Amino acid sequence: MFRLTSSIDDHIPRAVLDICSTLRANGYQAYVVGGGVRDSLRGCTPGDWDVATDAHPLQVVSLFPKTIPTGIKYGTITVFMADVSIEVTTFRSEGAYRDSRHPEEVSFGSSIEEDLKRRDFTVNAIAYEPESGRFIDPCGGRRDIRRRLLRTVGDARERFDEDALRMLRFFRFLATLEFRPHRGTLRAINPPLIKHISYERIRDELSKLLLAPSPGRTLLLMDKVGLLEEILPEVAQGSGVTQGSFHRYDVLEHSLYALDAALPRLDLRWAALLHDVGKPSTRKEEADGIHFYGHDLEGEKLTRSILTRLRYSRQFIDKVALLVRWHMFPIHAHSTDRALRRFTRKVGKENVLDLMDVRRADILALGKQTTYTSWAYYQELLERLKAILESDTALSVSDLAINGHDVIDALGIPPGPKVGAILELLLEKVLDDPGINNRIELLAILQSLENTPLMVNKQENNP
Ligand code: ATP
Ligand code: MG
Repeated sequence: MFRLTSSIDDHIPRAVLDICSTLRANGYQAYVVGGGVRDSLRGCTPGDWDVATDAHPLQVVSLFPKTIPTGIKYGTITVFMADVSIEVTTFRSEGAYRDSRHPEEVSFGSSIEEDLKRRDFTVNAIAYEPESGRFIDPCGGRRDIRRRLLRTVGDARERFDEDALRMLRFFRFLATLEFRPHRGTLRAINPPLIKHISYERIRDELSKLLLAPSPGRTLLLMDKVGLLEEILPEVAQGSGVTQGSFHRYDVLEHSLYALDAALPRLDLRWAALLHDVGKPSTRKEEADGIHFYGHDLEGEKLTRSILTRLRYSRQFIDKVALLVRWHMFPIHAHSTDRALRRFTRKVGKENVLDLMDVRRADILALGKQTTYTSWAYYQELLERLKAILESDTALSVSDLAINGHDVIDALGIPPGPKVGAILELLLEKVLDDPGINNRIELLAILQSLENTPLMVNKQENNP
């Protein structure tokens, strides 16, 4: 018979056991709870560990040398031990909720059962007491893990009313755990409630969802119940937008297949999900077929607005926007080396292979038999781009054999934007002919610039 208890002790790190025994030795209860227990029981390595105790947060602080009061209002203290950080949270029994968001007040409880019952899903509401090897599982979480079933603790409608983020957590866990949705829980999803939740909290759950092994079908389910429309209306818009003979799927389905095919890195996953987000508003049916002229530029605009709304960092937004903007890149296996170098310089060498990954996902998501020839072309282009990136060919100004000081010295001009413009001009020449990237030839080119329009204002610039 399959026994869930067989290996949990093998998973729990020493530091977690030590924290529990310190609490016990001081007369408190201590249980391992949450994702750590759930993932150990599934045979997976947990991301983080949580301990629940009846000790008051101030007592927890006094028992351990290194702590941070991360969420003292909610009773959470982070304890650092042997390079691991563990969240120790005092049992809670929550007061009334307001606005489907946060509990009005947090009251500390005295029993683990009560604490477990305020948790979101049965599979997250299992406690394990290391000393006795005892599970406290009042909601049947272990049985649901065995059945791979995700459902709320208690009445789903009430739980989503209390905290609407749980609706998104429901889909996040469906995708990351690859569990089945409990029917009653799924029926209780009430999309407009999510408006009460801050974009930051939505972002954090979405980021985890998108990194699941295959998040596509979960997003499709979210679309079916109307939650996608609330969170990512621009993406939901792709549903039913047909694309003509090259494609088997509508824009939404195609984007979701691309999402699943992209490497599990958050920027690549977002780029795959959003690469065609500009299609619904640019669709035109013409005599020769369906067109989406300019959907890459429109997609870049929408990508920026979606990711800004979700409060991602500027750097992250720029990266995903660039991948969406250039996903239709014009180079191919038969392009000249010069074209490949110019393209690499235009999009930045740090982005070229990422664009190739988005392209790979895009091709896989067409849903048509991809011919051997088209993969051979893709592979050939990839090899050539890699060769260019690995060679010492200059692809940016910083790769040139001379720098701004050389320009200033050779031409006798002051520092300023003109120096940058001259370096850009040299790079243009080097992209055409990498052989000239040496000091002698570049200095000779500088000399030849002396009487060109670029230099006629030389005197004005001299102090
Ligand atoms: P992971 O850390 O792998 O993402 P997790 O289950 O540990 O998964 P956390 O967000 O770290 O998820 O939360 C820890 C535990 O706290 C959960 O397992 C759950 O029991 C409880 N919990 C977290 N958020 C909520 C919520 N919104 N409502 C009720 N319980 C919650
Ligand atoms: Mg966790």
